[in-house]
Amino acid sequence: MRPTYLEVNLPRLKQNLENIRVHVAPAKVMAVVKANAYGHGVDEVAPYIAPYADYLGVAILEEGIRLRELGIDKPILVMGGTLPEQIPQFFQYDLTLAASSLDLLLAAEQMASSTRKRLKVHLKIDTGMERIGVHEYEAEPFIEKSLACSHLNIEGIFSHFANSEARDLTHAKLQLERFNDVLHIYEKRSAPRPPIRHMANSGAILNLPESHFDMVRPGVMFYGVYPGRDAQRTVEVKPALTWRSKVVYSKITKPGRPVSYGSLWQAEGPVRIVTIPCGYADGYFRRMTNQARVVIKEKIYPQVGRICMDQFMVNVGDDDVRVGDEVILLGDGITAEDLAEWAGTNEYEVMTNISARVPRVFIK
Ligand SMILES: *Cc1c(COP(=O)(O)O)cnc(C)c1O
Repeated sequence: MRPTYLEVNLPRLKQNLENIRVHVAPAKVMAVVKANAYGHGVDEVAPYIAPYADYLGVAILEEGIRLRELGIDKPILVMGGTLPEQIPQFFQYDLTLAASSLDLLLAAEQMASSTRKRLKVHLKIDTGMERIGVHEYEAEPFIEKSLACSHLNIEGIFSHFANSEARDLTHAKLQLERFNDVLHIYEKRSAPRPPIRHMANSGAILNLPESHFDMVRPGVMFYGVYPGRDAQRTVEVKPALTWRSKVVYSKITKPGRPVSYGSLWQAEGPVRIVTIPCGYADGYFRRMTNQARVVIKEKIYPQVGRICMDQFMVNVGDDDVRVGDEVILLGDGITAEDLAEWAGTNEYEVMTNISARVPRVFIK
């Protein structure tokens, strides 16, 4: 196997989910496993975690199909936008459709009536994300039509926060109020509302207990990472990833001999420069050039010179670092927050960007 690999601690994920469950009880928990389980490796993560989750959440149809192919029989919500021509596969794989428009809802109802099969549907309400969903101010006719869809199982209704991890929760609270108004439409009409109301992503699980409703949808938190610096840490979770590699080359570099493409860095005196077989094609962002840090034998060292596609260099000064020594790129004191800061992005992108070329090794 490659010396560069990602170690995934599965029991950590289970513990994170348990901690979230205790915090939100009696609400149910949907484990969000989109984007290859936030880079952790869905083929191992999903079957391991499914017995402890009430629902699984994915972004796109293909991710839902993959979970069925893995033999998972828990309910699965495809949360993202869907085209009408994709609906037959929701029947085929028993996936729950996010009905984000009246057209999609009616297309599903029509297909359900002609195939005489039931389809689980969650109505998607846009309360202020402006991504997908029926606006709360147009929800009344949408809900009315949904009540007439006799071939569908309208199991849920949901919305999504745009700012629940922020320090200023004004917009999140406004969204929550709008969602509550939509839920009141059912009461006004004495209509049974869908049994699963859900809205909370990680930020809202931490910051807004009033938003937990019947189910919560933790993504980043389930992976042990907080959604940014400002979210209150009301649930303890721990990261599950350790990104490891090994020194493949070790040499002394002198002043006047700049390191790597573009000659962006050079030593002030003779120093030992070691080479790590990992680069931006593995998801180690090129933008972290001259900013990243790694751990070698429990000491932190700076990355130097342009990060290449497949390799990068580290300045270990006068230390005796040799070929074969272990290098830690993430974990052991180096956090996803650190990488996000060096790369000018967020923790989500750090994790989901670790490419398929990096083998995943699972601790069970
Ligand atoms: C990704 C996603 C989540 C999970 O968000 P986190 O911030 O990672 O907890 C929840 N709901 C929807 C609709 C999503 O797209």
